[in-house]
Amino acid sequence: MNITITRTSSPKSKPNPEELGFGKYFTDHMFLMNYDREHGWHDARIVPFENLSLSPACAVFHYAQEMFEGLKAYKGANGKNLLFRPQKNIERMSNTNERLCIPPVDPDFALEAIKALVNVDVDWIPEGEGKSLYIRPFIIATDPFLGVHPSATYLFCIILSPVGAYYAEGINPVKIYVEDEYVRAVKGGMGFAKTGGNYAASLRAQQKAEEYGYSQVLWLDGIEHKYVDEVGAMNVFFLIDGELITPKLEGNILPGVTRDSVIELAKSFGVRVSERRLAIAEVFDAARNGKLDEAFGSGTAAVISPIGELNMDGEKVVINGGKIGALSQRLYDTLTGIQWGKVSDPFGWSVTV
Ligand SMILES: *Cc1c(COP(=O)(O)O)cnc(C)c1O
Repeated sequence: MNITITRTSSPKSKPNPEELGFGKYFTDHMFLMNYDREHGWHDARIVPFENLSLSPACAVFHYAQEMFEGLKAYKGANGKNLLFRPQKNIERMSNTNERLCIPPVDPDFALEAIKALVNVDVDWIPEGEGKSLYIRPFIIATDPFLGVHPSATYLFCIILSPVGAYYAEGINPVKIYVEDEYVRAVKGGMGFAKTGGNYAASLRAQQKAEEYGYSQVLWLDGIEHKYVDEVGAMNVFFLIDGELITPKLEGNILPGVTRDSVIELAKSFGVRVSERRLAIAEVFDAARNGKLDEAFGSGTAAVISPIGELNMDGEKVVINGGKIGALSQRLYDTLTGIQWGKVSDPFGWSVTV
């Protein structure tokens, strides 16, 4: 399929690179492609960034049939513009689409579309420590019909946002509230899918954690409220007595690209890595016995987000004196080093745009 390109006649002025933040600014162009039953996916195009015009009856507004992805383009140290394991995002997109009854997108074409858009707005990849261009592909159900059924028409869109360094003020471990009332997802639900509904379900707990002075929630499993699932919108890892433990993928956890990369990297460092069920009681027991050495979240935005404190029912444990641990730091340095093309990439994770 061909991608037609219509360039803007009025490029925006670029934001101050020191004030980018996250997801506030958008580039000059976006990618669009439509789906209907007669034509399949068609009319792939890059056009000037502008508001969408949609019927208020569109299925996505009422029943949340949608998916999204998140990845980044990096200005590499070698002068090349790099993506980090985009095929993994596209593979996940296919799984999300299937769960949400959204028609599949050809994986090779999805990568081509991402690259084409990044190339059109290549001047928007910010330079400088920790800065990158966040890529947000998403698909929405567009049938103007209030019946509950999979839409017959869809819009696939990709937008780009230059983002600042996540740790502009250095890596400060975060305080996490163990949530025992609300749950994010259950096995059989949509927990493994990257879809807005999971985020809508998470907001109330996040608000509660913030009211208590915590920055994010540690989610427990939706059935017994006993096992660790994720932290905020990140996967979670605990280093207990030399074993790096992360919950295994059983359908309720988002299979993070960063999670997978952390597992591979830690193994390559010679660390014992386990993907298994981890009871929150085991985490607190380890903390009481001085065996909980490190804990961190993993995700595209922060890469590694160290956990400095956990609070469960008022019992607080401080991890590694509230400072980033040695393994967390090494994983962060190596992963970001590969992403920005500063260190060698033995896994072949970087893809040139
Ligand atoms: C996107 C996401 C992650 C992290 O996935 P990455 O591919 O590493 O960015 C983890 N948990 C949830 C709920 C997510 O939506």
